[in-house]
Amino acid sequence: MKKRQTTISKQVKAAGIGLHSGKKVAVRIKPAPAGTGICFIRKDVDPTMIIPAKVAFVVDTSFATTIGASHATVGTIEHLMAAFAGLGIDNAVVEIEGPEVPAMDGSAAPFMALMLEAGIKKLNRVRKYMKIIEPVSIAHQGKSITLEPATSFSVSFEIDFEHRVITKQKCELEINRDSFAEKIGIARTFGFLHEVEYMRSKGLALGGSLDNAVVVDETSVLNSEGLRFSDEFVRHKILDLVGDLALLGMPIIGKVTAVRSGHSMHHALATMLLKKPQTWKVVEVDDLTSNVYRRASYLKSAANY
Ligand SMILES: [Zn+2]
Repeated sequence: MKKRQTTISKQVKAAGIGLHSGKKVAVRIKPAPAGTGICFIRKDVDPTMIIPAKVAFVVDTSFATTIGASHATVGTIEHLMAAFAGLGIDNAVVEIEGPEVPAMDGSAAPFMALMLEAGIKKLNRVRKYMKIIEPVSIAHQGKSITLEPATSFSVSFEIDFEHRVITKQKCELEINRDSFAEKIGIARTFGFLHEVEYMRSKGLALGGSLDNAVVVDETSVLNSEGLRFSDEFVRHKILDLVGDLALLGMPIIGKVTAVRSGHSMHHALATMLLKKPQTWKVVEVDDLTSNVYRRASYLKSAANY
């Protein structure tokens, strides 16, 4: 038995304001058949616009990841995409009534909780994985990202801010449903107080607040509740990376090593992978949780074979 594709068992709804647009927006996340992937539908434009959450549809990566086609875009998709990837949900339709995914609390956790409550359903089609067979690397101005062969999906991320609170942080872990939910999914986005004014002058961060981001001034975290982890900043960078790489449309089997990278570099890596098909191959993975395998391994050990 091979691991199969999944979707959510029933529709879920969320609403909130967009981090950058400041606009109130509602989303409905609906089950979708095998082979759909993750698709966004802008319901508030005429005609309604379907935008697949795929690398080829990325139109902007400054401050957040935005996808678009012809007359409509959807911004800040990375936390919702990370929620899908973290839960192992391959297929879903996201109907959205505005230009940006709601920020919720600044992490992927509210989306994950909603979808877990709805339930995850296995579909009758095998899931394809992108298995890295040759290293791929990008480096630019002290930032870098490398993807190399490994037996599972793991990430090592390092950030180095000249800042008293954030400083140098490094986090390394294998990403699976449990580790993502416990250690990464709840890490919030963050911003610097001194940048807020500049960003707002550019029409960005208009919806940003202490309710949906960790905000730091020169010396401290301004959120009264403090941090969720002492290294919440680097954990959120991993969340962003997982969300950005989910646009490849297949889970990765490989090890990512990222140093100070952001959405643009994540997108560049994904684009390079698609341009260099010799660096990966499509594989299927045995479902070791299936009864068939459990029974087989039980029989083997019981028979001492
Ligand atoms: Zn983020």
